[in-house]
Amino acid sequence: METYGLNFKKSLGQNFLTDTNILRKIVAAAEVTTADDVIEIGPGIGALTEQLAKKAHRVLALELDERLIPVLAETLAPYPNVQVIRQDVLKANLKKLLTSYFDGQHPVKIVANLPYYITSPIILYLLETGIDFKAIVVMMQKEVAERLGAHPGTKSYGSLTVRVQYQMDVKVPFVVPKTVFVPQPKIDSAIVALTPKVQPWTVLPQNEQLFFKIVRGCFQHRRKNIWNNLQSLLGKKQVNKEKLQQLLSDTGIAPQERAEKLTIPEFIQLTNKMIDYKI
Ligand code: SAM
Repeated sequence: METYGLNFKKSLGQNFLTDTNILRKIVAAAEVTTADDVIEIGPGIGALTEQLAKKAHRVLALELDERLIPVLAETLAPYPNVQVIRQDVLKANLKKLLTSYFDGQHPVKIVANLPYYITSPIILYLLETGIDFKAIVVMMQKEVAERLGAHPGTKSYGSLTVRVQYQMDVKVPFVVPKTVFVPQPKIDSAIVALTPKVQPWTVLPQNEQLFFKIVRGCFQHRRKNIWNNLQSLLGKKQVNKEKLQQLLSDTGIAPQERAEKLTIPEFIQLTNKMIDYKI
């Protein structure tokens, strides 16, 4: 960055990785081979991109900061299988980019050291594209990684956990100390590996959007119980006491239970019992 007279933009989450060993460990965790095409989000000055380029078939890197585009052109010049474009990932039409830059013959993986200020929006955005990524292996704040991998009944288990685990299997292969970044962030990081669920749910929600809404609603006020959260979600008019009592007794969920105790199949069951509600 000094060579190019550039300063780090905190507003863009620019904490760059400097340790080649860690970079290689990320690529290894993603099991990138020449069979894979890779999308990298936020290549920075290209440290991870270079390691990806050495292993992958092709790499498409999306960088928002236009100042870094000429730097990347130089650092990645030796790698003809890399393409960098200036692009805000949250505004990208990823399906279109895939057909423009890849041949469709190789599975696509996402590998990145994410800009931390938009970690959750990026994960949700990727899941919502409907693209069948073979894996999403990304570095993020340790605390968010814990939320993604959390089990019911723990403090980290929340609506983000349910949303992600509904669709993906989650592993947290390793934690990365803050000392390997420049500039150094305040918190440690972790690598998270998401892969499409191997074991599908035995019962699926009849309406996925409703399922996501109900999950968010149940976690809306963490200190409130399911009864209170459902009542606020549904509005007092739509659901009287008896109806709500019936709904919970049908699903075997205690009214005083908190959302963090409910498993994904329980949220699915709840959704399917509420399919006629206007939410
Ligand atoms: N990959 C590099 C590394 O590992 O050292 C840099 C990672 S840094 C944590 C995050 C990168 O994402 C920065 O280069 C930043 O400019 C870029 N970025 C921030 N917001 C972005 C967005 N909305 N779309 C694409 N890239 C973004």
